[in-house]
Amino acid sequence: MNIGILGLGLIGGSLGLDLRSQGHYVLGVSRRESTCQQARALGSVDESSIDMSLLAKAEVVFICTPIGLIIPTLEQLITHLPSTTVVTDVGSVKTPIVKAIAPLWNNFIGGHPMAGTADSGIEAAMRNLFEKKPYVLTPLATTPPDAITIVEKIVRNLGATLYYSSPEDHDKAVSWISHLPVMISSSLIAACMSETDANVLQLAQKLASSGFRDTSRVGGGNPELGLMMAQYNRQALLNSLQQYRHNLDELTRFIEQEDWEALEQQLQSTQKARPKFVD
Ligand code: NAP
Repeated sequence: MNIGILGLGLIGGSLGLDLRSQGHYVLGVSRRESTCQQARALGSVDESSIDMSLLAKAEVVFICTPIGLIIPTLEQLITHLPSTTVVTDVGSVKTPIVKAIAPLWNNFIGGHPMAGTADSGIEAAMRNLFEKKPYVLTPLATTPPDAITIVEKIVRNLGATLYYSSPEDHDKAVSWISHLPVMISSSLIAACMSETDANVLQLAQKLASSGFRDTSRVGGGNPELGLMMAQYNRQALLNSLQQYRHNLDELTRFIEQEDWEALEQQLQSTQKARPKFVD
């Protein structure tokens, strides 16, 4: 199959590596010529260009640009495509993207691989990034069944675990498990940095070990991605932050009032709940 990738960064470049290894012919388009060259050298694409017309030959196109560029990129892209081309995207937020694109391109299905690293750009591309990771597809009632089947098959062959949801449910769910953690983790780092005693701050920085590494990881990631999550999933994120503030206030109260029983119950309940989210 001829598969197009628009935006050759971490996600687009990684997708290209896997698709080529499965025998697909991969056409890549990116903003910079240097990225196009690097993608060819790394084996992410068979052909690449900064000119979108290259994708006219593709049967399926994955849009892998930063979230804010997905809609304007699609508007430009479809001027080069026959109406049979199936288009999907990998953006971390789905409702505004699916809502804007559905009236423009019938053969579109929203998607979101729940996979990533702290790095970005084509140099961060890696094989098997999507293996055993969740991959959500968000078709609408109007999405052609053939478009769903084609994208579903490609996603399954990446070794990803496929889920379907509405764009709205997707955005609420990722707000809890992806976007809220970025904000909490960022606040954690900021709170630590507010220590005014330089000796204590330095000591804390030296003593930070695996616990801090785990809890600060997503707050120390790509700022552009965090900003886009907040801008494009604003309402769901605000709801999650309000609930989180409530939980934090409750914990603070337990400690202020030395209500150790309530605190213990809370910690026991979260210990029991965690495996329902992650192994
Ligand atoms: P990235 O590594 O920064 O890659 C994005 C690439 O898009 C850049 O390398 C850039 O290539 C290219 N690009 C920028 N503007 C462009 C334009 N106007 N036309 C064509 N290409 C353009 O970002 P990423 O992490 O792969 O994220 C890409 C998408 O995946 C985002 O929508 C994000 O929400 C989604 N996503 C990310 C993760 C994650 O954890 N990183 C996980 C799941 C989904 P040049 O080098 O040519 O400028």
